[in-house]
Amino acid sequence: MAARIIDGKAIAQSLRETLAAEVEALSGRGIVPGLAVVLVGEDAASQVYVRNKAAQTKAVGMRSIEHRLPADTSEADLLRLVATLNADDAVDGILVQLPLPAQIDAQRVIEAIDPEKDVDGFHPVNAGRLATGLPGLVPCTPQGSMRLVESVRTDLAGLEAVVVGRSNIVGKPMAQLLLQRSCTVTIAHSRTRDLAEVCRRADILVAAVGRPELVRGDWIREGAIVIDVGINRVPAPEAGEGKTRLVGDVAFEEARARAGAITPVPGGVGPMTIACLLANTLQAAKARRGN
Ligand code: NDP
Repeated sequence: MAARIIDGKAIAQSLRETLAAEVEALSGRGIVPGLAVVLVGEDAASQVYVRNKAAQTKAVGMRSIEHRLPADTSEADLLRLVATLNADDAVDGILVQLPLPAQIDAQRVIEAIDPEKDVDGFHPVNAGRLATGLPGLVPCTPQGSMRLVESVRTDLAGLEAVVVGRSNIVGKPMAQLLLQRSCTVTIAHSRTRDLAEVCRRADILVAAVGRPELVRGDWIREGAIVIDVGINRVPAPEAGEGKTRLVGDVAFEEARARAGAITPVPGGVGPMTIACLLANTLQAAKARRGN
């Protein structure tokens, strides 16, 4: 039987509606959560992300503050801006769009952000809080992926979970979240021996690799929940010369024949990321005011 398709667009929409209602209730008490997004340089994909983030921030009733800096901005100038935003009481969340130009050390910038305003959840304090089971700000993509898993099944205790990818942004925090839900977690990466066999163990398989359709249909355990985080642009000559299309890290058509539920690309994890950024901004705004 073909897998259920997990509709990330609809789940993100419903999350945004819940957030908008909470934001409205807060604004009744004179509190309007504010998200500051900093973009350095002209990277085309980053420009699109930042535009989408600003539009969705406003759509749920929060304040969007945008800082666009030239590509030759120095690290010192960016750190000064971060310090100003840290000190600004109207700013609840700070997001510095990655990647940053080569002259700026991204890690130094991440560590300069006040952990209470670190809505990307990349600060070592928030990573440490996640690893030790303390409340904190959880990175948006794994948080969104977890919400998608839980849209299929809420009791995950004892399930075998395999996360392919060990980045600080997706793979590692995803593994932590699954561990918190009492899954038995395996983290695979480029040095893993027999990746196919490791994946076949998974009741929950999360692919966060960045390799188009690496995960094949026969790597999928019958009935598994498959979360495809990858976003890869590949040539699509069938659509016309020079055309491209997006595919995930999972060979979708093959995998859906075996999985129990699977996220599509696009329309799966992607829409959840910004919705979770807004959820983090609301969480930060409430936490900074003591609730
Ligand atoms: P990284 O490049 O930081 O990490 C990729 C991981 O995949 C690494 O751990 C790497 O292993 C592993 N890997 C690479 N090749 C293989 C292989 N052949 N077999 C097994 N493991 C392999 O990527 P990110 O975590 O930042 O992103 C992963 C994907 O998710 C990308 O496609 C990205 O575009 C997408 N993404 C999507 C988002 C969304 O909103 N939907 C948000 C963020 C990312 P090693 O550590 O050994 O090198």
